[in-house]
Amino acid sequence: MENEQKSGDVELEVPTPTRRPRLGQARTKPPVWKLGKVVGVVVETPETNTLQIEVPDPTPFLPGQYYNIRIPIEGRPRPIQRAYSVGSSPYPDYSVVDVGIRETPGGLVSPKLVRDSYIGQELEVRGPYGAFTWTEENGGPVLLIGAGSGVVPLMAMIRYGVNKELDVPMHLLFSSKSYEYVIYGDELKRLSQENSWLTVSHTFTRSNDDARAQYHRRIDKEMISEVFHEVNANVAYICGPPEMVEESEKVLVGLGMQPESVKTEKYD
Ligand SMILES: Cc1cc2nc3c(=O)[nH]c(=O)nc-3n(C[C@H](O)[C@H](O)[C@H](O)COP(=O)(O)OP(=O)(O)OC[C@H]3O[C@@H](n4cnc5c(N)ncnc54)[C@H](O)[C@@H]3O)c2cc1C
Repeated sequence: MENEQKSGDVELEVPTPTRRPRLGQARTKPPVWKLGKVVGVVVETPETNTLQIEVPDPTPFLPGQYYNIRIPIEGRPRPIQRAYSVGSSPYPDYSVVDVGIRETPGGLVSPKLVRDSYIGQELEVRGPYGAFTWTEENGGPVLLIGAGSGVVPLMAMIRYGVNKELDVPMHLLFSSKSYEYVIYGDELKRLSQENSWLTVSHTFTRSNDDARAQYHRRIDKEMISEVFHEVNANVAYICGPPEMVEESEKVLVGLGMQPESVKTEKYD
């Protein structure tokens, strides 16, 4: 896992051209490295911080996309880059991107970003990237399934829906170790109270009797089936560890969803 660029960092141009441009047509330029500035640091959980990064000359992004961040690492000839989803809504302002970073124990990049970042820090960022996106054009009702920091791009979709007052039904099934580790916990609670189209179901994997969660186990078939039927989902977005993503995708297709209506992002 120590490669400079991980296999998951597939660099998609935004928007991705579907065919060769004709003579005289401009080809979409790939994103370039820019020097972003950290303008805010929010402690979300004991292992996750949000970094609010102001991007110079920003490119509009879509809810669900990610940025690459690279930092120098001692003993390495070149900076090491990792992908981090944007948790903020691009509407109305896409010039500041919030990235939610969970510290991976023993990792090269994330522990430094979580522990050492500070307001005023300059960070090299490049983006946006990715086809794991939702806007009103993708329709609904929407089922969002996330585990741990996999909630970050799903939160961008929820915040976008709130900011644009879309009223498209959304149901988030969110797995965390316990209440202490719920990223965006207070905001999700408030938003679901304020917006009747938003429902949040928590499952806690390391807390057996916390009434703030509907479930107390890992995401499984029965749980997905329940929330799927509750929201009557037409589109679904799943994000988190590869195994959870693959299993959830299979369950949804087994429940009758069209494979092309189930979008996935794996944090490997
Ligand atoms: C599209 C995408 C979006 C993402 N968005 C987010 C996000 O929003 N938030 C987030 O927190 N993460 C996100 N990730 C994951 C993120 O990109 C990193 O993979 C994560 O932060 C770990 O990086 P790291 O450099 O800290 O760890 P790494 O150095 O990559 O190490 C990962 C693990 O491997 C182990 N390891 C490293 N080297 C070795 C070795 N030689 N032998 C055995 N084990 C080893 C480490 O101990 C650690 O447990 C995303 C990933 C993708 C692909």
